[in-house]
Amino acid sequence: MKKLLEILKCEICGGGFQMSGENALQCEKCENIVPQRDSIPMFTEIPEGIQPSEKEIRGPDIGTPWRQANWEFLADWLKAQDPECLILDVGAGRGDFLEALKGKNFVALDVYPYPEIDIVCDLTKTNPFRPESFDAALVLNVLEHVFDSQGLFKSVAEILKPGGKLLLAIPFMVKMHQIPLDYFRYTHFALEQLGKDNGLEIERLEGFYDPMFFLGEGIRNIQWPILRKMRGWRQYVGRILLAGVRFLAFLMEPVIGAGHIKSPYEAFSLAPTGYQVVYTKK
Ligand SMILES: [Zn+2]
Repeated sequence: MKKLLEILKCEICGGGFQMSGENALQCEKCENIVPQRDSIPMFTEIPEGIQPSEKEIRGPDIGTPWRQANWEFLADWLKAQDPECLILDVGAGRGDFLEALKGKNFVALDVYPYPEIDIVCDLTKTNPFRPESFDAALVLNVLEHVFDSQGLFKSVAEILKPGGKLLLAIPFMVKMHQIPLDYFRYTHFALEQLGKDNGLEIERLEGFYDPMFFLGEGIRNIQWPILRKMRGWRQYVGRILLAGVRFLAFLMEPVIGAGHIKSPYEAFSLAPTGYQVVYTKK
């Protein structure tokens, strides 16, 4: 908490905070109070309609191929960093990448006070950090849930040190999730523009292309909404055909292989499962 207090600033007067009793922070200058919930400072209210995430076991070899690609992306990057660097995990949730971050110096931020979180704040509404406080920010599978993406990029750019990095992972061909707080699927052209508008230069941009995952999603789209509603011979024939497609997909999987990383500029108009980007603050 002491470390966190050092990098926080009052949104009203820019002053620093101190503890005020057990359950609040107070600005040293203007006495503005920020309440705490289970010792987590609450800079913004919990969004309406949020369905808090359940804790899931995460790891380098767990979850969808996209999740595994994200893990590798982060772990590889972390290996090359100064162990002292300070990282802000934006939308850290239930600590999806907690294991990868173990031993690192990081602040976990979310809009919901999960037990794994250090600070509750919607960075598109207020920015409680002193400028240039962080060496890096992680926005992993979060940006699609943020309605004001320009606002988020602006805040992140402000709190990064010059030369600081923003690591972004964002799904593209992935079903809706955490509804109703799922707003966008961005192309890499939009991701580049968002960076450019906020003084963040692209250092690395990659798409994760996973045609078998794509096919699996297609099959699920047929199975659930369409086949279940069919009746009579249509349902019968539909089921046989779908079983055939599934069997072919099963045969294809080892031939086609797992997803692969590629520059979206070499992939022409193919749709990736998602993008992974490293931005540098100019
Ligand atoms: Zn103040």
